[in-house]
Amino acid sequence: MLAKVHSGCVIGIDAYPIDVEVDITNGLPSFNVIGLPDVSIRESRGRIKPAIKNSGLFFPAQKITVNLSPADIKKEGAGFDLPIAIGILTALGVIRQEDIDGILFCGELSLTGKLKAVRGALPVAISLSHKYHTFIVPEENSIETANVKNVTVYGAECLRDVVDHLKNIKKFIPVEDSKTYPPSAADNTIDFKDVKGQERIKRALEVAASGSHNVLLIGPPGSGKSMLVKRFPTILPRMTDNESLEATKIYSISGELKNGYILRERPFRSPHHTISYAAMAGGGSSPMPGEISLAHNGVLFLDEFPEFRRDVLETLRQPLESGEIIISRAERAVRYPSKFILIAAMNPCPCGYFTDKKKACQCSSNQIHKYLSKISGPLLDRIDIHIEVPRLNYETLSQKKTGETSIEIKNRVEKTIAIQQKRVDEKIARANYNGYLTSQDIEIFCVLSNESKNLLKSAIVELGMSARAYDKIMKISRTIADMDNSEIIEAHHLGEAISYRCLDKNIWP
Ligand SMILES: [Zn+2]
Repeated sequence: MLAKVHSGCVIGIDAYPIDVEVDITNGLPSFNVIGLPDVSIRESRGRIKPAIKNSGLFFPAQKITVNLSPADIKKEGAGFDLPIAIGILTALGVIRQEDIDGILFCGELSLTGKLKAVRGALPVAISLSHKYHTFIVPEENSIETANVKNVTVYGAECLRDVVDHLKNIKKFIPVEDSKTYPPSAADNTIDFKDVKGQERIKRALEVAASGSHNVLLIGPPGSGKSMLVKRFPTILPRMTDNESLEATKIYSISGELKNGYILRERPFRSPHHTISYAAMAGGGSSPMPGEISLAHNGVLFLDEFPEFRRDVLETLRQPLESGEIIISRAERAVRYPSKFILIAAMNPCPCGYFTDKKKACQCSSNQIHKYLSKISGPLLDRIDIHIEVPRLNYETLSQKKTGETSIEIKNRVEKTIAIQQKRVDEKIARANYNGYLTSQDIEIFCVLSNESKNLLKSAIVELGMSARAYDKIMKISRTIADMDNSEIIEAHHLGEAISYRCLDKNIWP
């Protein structure tokens, strides 16, 4: 008899419908899977037979042929175990074909018949919810799958339970929508109000959050760079539902989704400087997302910036330009979204004290030059704001006064972003953040007052500013003017923007 079961397969962050056809005929006992299966699917034969037997069900000593269709898509992962097992039981007449029509199955089987979580259940549900309205998935994947609207999701612990459900012996209870919300609110324990002093840096980070600008912080050890950056996500705007789903899809694919809850807070990734190329960019034979994709819609923090391997840093260029990374493999190229705010931090020189007012730097100019040159020009070009972080003095550290709370800053940031979004809605801008304005956009939106024009002229002469630096300063000025709710860029907006370009000032050897 022939049976047909619906399933899906993830490629990149999208999923494609796959039909699992099972044919059982008389002949020498065999079990073949065709239709471009990868190794883990071919190995499913070894899992499915004991899983069916250990579920107290009959496994036939006949010729079993499994076809995964369409045949031209390469299928990956162990998620086809459950649909293949259901297909065999349907072909045997244990389950009726009409009872499985319209249901999507996915899940890995253990030898005992228990269902194990699969990667990418959420993208499968999102991409295929227009086609199927009922999903039977492993219990561990049920909450993430239920985040998708207009689908009924059943979480199953084992194969036997799925069979009993389909045969109306014991029905599952669908996962309720309310279960998809995490039980407790976000972690509010870190807040900008705990950071004493450093008002200038806090302001620069607010500018970065308001216009989605990348930042390089340069300061001696003990200046509190990490402490400031850790609080940066707390002032970023709330994620829209779409942004949440997009980010969660990537976590689902990489198997990093905790408890199945949708990400409501922006991701904050801070890989160590010893990270490999594949871990940063993404990779493997069926490419997994790397740190830059896990940071999508959030923050990528790279401390000790020059200590990262050169090739690792160079992988940042493509995502910083286009908001995505393409990982090429022999069979196909996979595209992962990678739109993040980069915050990099570094010492001003190998010993750390080159810019310090009190402690003397021990480095030769040659050493400093070598240290700085580890960061390539093209990469630096993608960083709008570079700012020196001074070491705090005793008076600041001992003061009792607390600063503004993260929520106060965040409210302002959201207002500034709304101004930028309005330009998109009115179809006069393409980029919804000033950090993404093109040179053409800059011509249109960055209107300078006369005083600003004069200031810009003298800055160009004094600093020997390049055309690229000019674009950056314009974008930052635009954000600062938006924060001030001003259409025209005034001299004090421009002046502040110029102050966020410390590497243009030629103070380094
Ligand atoms: Zn030094």
